[in-house]
Amino acid sequence: MICVSIGRGRHRHVIAEHKHLADNGVQLVELRLDYIQGDVQVKRLLKDRPCPAIITCRRKQDGGRWEHSEEARLQLLRLAIVEGADYVDLEDDIAGGIRRYGKTKRVVSHHDMLRTPADLPALHARLAALDADVVKIATMANHPTDNLRMLELVASAKVPTVGICMGDIGVPTRILCGRAGAPFVFATFNDERALAPGQIGWRQMRDLYRFDALGPATRIYGVVADPVAHSLSPVVQNAAIAAAGLDAVYVPFRVPADQIDEFLAEAGRWPLAGLSVTIPHKEAVLKRCSRQDDLVRSIGAANTLSFAADGIAASNTDATAAVESLEAVLAETEQLTPGQGLGVKTALVLGAGGAARAVAFGLKQRGAEVTIASRTADRAKKVAADVGCKAVEWSARHRMPHDCIVNATPIGMHPDVDQTPFEKEHLRPYMVVFDTVYNPENTLFIKEARAAGCRVVTGVEMFVRQAAIQFRTWHGTEPPPQVMREALKRATASAKQPA
Ligand code: NAP
Repeated sequence: MICVSIGRGRHRHVIAEHKHLADNGVQLVELRLDYIQGDVQVKRLLKDRPCPAIITCRRKQDGGRWEHSEEARLQLLRLAIVEGADYVDLEDDIAGGIRRYGKTKRVVSHHDMLRTPADLPALHARLAALDADVVKIATMANHPTDNLRMLELVASAKVPTVGICMGDIGVPTRILCGRAGAPFVFATFNDERALAPGQIGWRQMRDLYRFDALGPATRIYGVVADPVAHSLSPVVQNAAIAAAGLDAVYVPFRVPADQIDEFLAEAGRWPLAGLSVTIPHKEAVLKRCSRQDDLVRSIGAANTLSFAADGIAASNTDATAAVESLEAVLAETEQLTPGQGLGVKTALVLGAGGAARAVAFGLKQRGAEVTIASRTADRAKKVAADVGCKAVEWSARHRMPHDCIVNATPIGMHPDVDQTPFEKEHLRPYMVVFDTVYNPENTLFIKEARAAGCRVVTGVEMFVRQAAIQFRTWHGTEPPPQVMREALKRATASAKQPA
């Protein structure tokens, strides 16, 4: 169950949000008394409540806002029990001093805003012994393994336990603790108003991660990156999983560069079924893979991992997706037959990172003569040597005309939407312009190319295709590309709204 935390300064706003949530099917809320300004009227908040509520009044040291005396806080919590609150949250240092009364259930909680303690089972036993109906432990995750220890605690607990790791690294515990057996999880009223680090909005928990549909058999997929919060892969993959009716979930895993090896070594504890891999891990993951497809071997980087009993298989969907995206556009204007060249004789690839490398390999494989231009000349030369193509200085990118220009740099990406990697004066109507940037879909480069009469391929097309290949690889079934495309477009459109 998703429990939505309501933290507002005025009683009428708390009551209005409570009603709104209940009207929208939410079955449990947490009323945060520490957010209320002025005298707290517990009776008013609980009277005629539209759905059950947990009463919480959190001190600053536990991540809350309570500024008044401890005596006043305890009085409020006791009053909530007398008024018949459905649950009351009692921190471990006060739970022993507040007796059970009436039907109010006791959530005995512990918070650690700095770390996840080494001995979670001992901590849990101490909390459970304080006459707990529910144990709640919320700790800061500093390492992906903290998540695993927390989820394993939840799964093995005899008393119903809500175990959450806070912060970006801890996000997977919020999504997966119900799967491990937690009776509920805390979510925010809206995405911008987190009451604890890493908290997710309740609509995302319900619609994107389908929290209530996840069970012990749900297969776990995800994207591993650092940072990961900006990734739109969860939006696209979870939409496709839901549309295909699969018992699976796709989670953002923030894993710092120096922790990726250990993260992969512990894949069986989650257990992970598949991962998308992005910056900075595309090369580092190869060390742990027992199988690599031809593209991974050529490119030297993977963006897809599949986990099986006999090891981890690495594949790269970027090159195939880039070529397929180009083919789709060219097929509309040229008579292409399968196995034929792309119809692109010369291509200029801007950038020398992972995307540029994959696109250059794909184009080269399909017979195009490829030139790399990148800001850092040495990087461009290295990619060119590996791919077997030419490199030119960044400043020389406009000098020679090409049939196809590919932007594989982040130039033009949100929020720098008024930038382009290629001057419009050098665009010609016979060119195909391919921008790998997908947020926004219509970059300045794409807009100027259209205005110059060029055929265009957008990063949305490539992103959806690479995600679709991953989906096929993992689930062994055809993905719903239109669902993926629409989910991506909705997400990029909302990302453009001011926060
Ligand atoms: P990366 O490994 O960090 O490489 C980025 C490349 O862009 C580097 O060569 C970098 O040059 C260059 N660059 C960055 N800022 C620049 C600037 N202001 N001027 C000139 N060059 C600049 O990143 P990546 O993984 O290749 O991703 C690059 C872009 O591709 C991403 O932003 C993303 O939008 C896109 N992408 C799209 C898809 C898709 O499916 N549509 C998939 C993957 C990537 P230096 O070496 O000098 O830093």
